[in-house]
Amino acid sequence: MAFNKKKAREEANRGGFYQFAEGENVVRILPPSREYFDKDITYIALTYFLHYGIPEGAPPVTCPKTTDPKNHWNVRCPICEKCKAIKSAADKDDKETQQFVYDRKAKQRYLFNVIVTSDKPDEETKKHKVVKLSVGWKIYKAILDVAQSDKYEDIGDVKKGRGFIINMTPESKTKTGFRDYSVTPEPNPSSVYELLPKDWIEAIEANEKWVEELAAGVLSFEELKSVMENSGIPQFMDGGPSRVQPAKQYGELDEEGNTKGEKSTPEETPEETPAKEETPASKPDCYGKYERGSEKCAKCESRIDCINKFIESQE
Ligand SMILES: [Zn+2]
Repeated sequence: MAFNKKKAREEANRGGFYQFAEGENVVRILPPSREYFDKDITYIALTYFLHYGIPEGAPPVTCPKTTDPKNHWNVRCPICEKCKAIKSAADKDDKETQQFVYDRKAKQRYLFNVIVTSDKPDEETKKHKVVKLSVGWKIYKAILDVAQSDKYEDIGDVKKGRGFIINMTPESKTKTGFRDYSVTPEPNPSSVYELLPKDWIEAIEANEKWVEELAAGVLSFEELKSVMENSGIPQFMDGGPSRVQPAKQYGELDEEGNTKGEKSTPEETPEETPAKEETPASKPDCYGKYERGSEKCAKCESRIDCINKFIESQE
């Protein structure tokens, strides 16, 4: 017997996350959130932060930065603070410590909703399942560059957008010993609307919910501190550099050297009481009844049919 790569991938994919196959993977990026259908948005992916290897071999710990990705430098995390303290206390030439910190510091992940058109569609329906594609900065940046370029159309447009060819070279075949990726936009725009499953918008909503739940499940500062100090990792236990830093202040530079924005205290959004008036239309042809993007529209039972109808109506 041998390692069944295809099966292993299928198994991993069952968790809803796409695992790259060696060579070309053609993915079509769908809108990141339902909001996309209601108004102009300025993001192409949802984002979250993870700490790996705390303790060694354990599943990743969600970094509190996940709770406020836009202002993440204002969010306190004992693991991030400890990593920073270890890094600044270490010699710049101390490669081992630098690598240790790199491996343990928060890694930002970007979550795309995709269909993988290089894979076979469902035999019966001929549709592709919507899966989560979680990538790091390099792949994200390559996609973002295309998304922001005036030379390309809206990448989230299921009728007029275009896919991306992500070529994966496994560890065993690179000079560096690390996996390598290249990202190329497909040469021509195309419609994938016919390939989308019936529940594609629900899948987008579900993935949004997944990130929300991840953020909601973040451990408290004290809990994370305890996870860290009981990790069995010497650097994270007592005796290591322990200049725990206070929350960063407005005006400082963040780790990437960017000037940080104004410290924003998360605004308490008052609980919106859903308007009780009109009951949402039961028929899918209520498009235009509520103002697009309005609270009523977003909560309407027929919203998904409406979105599909709207897309269908486009050239
Ligand atoms: Zn953190």
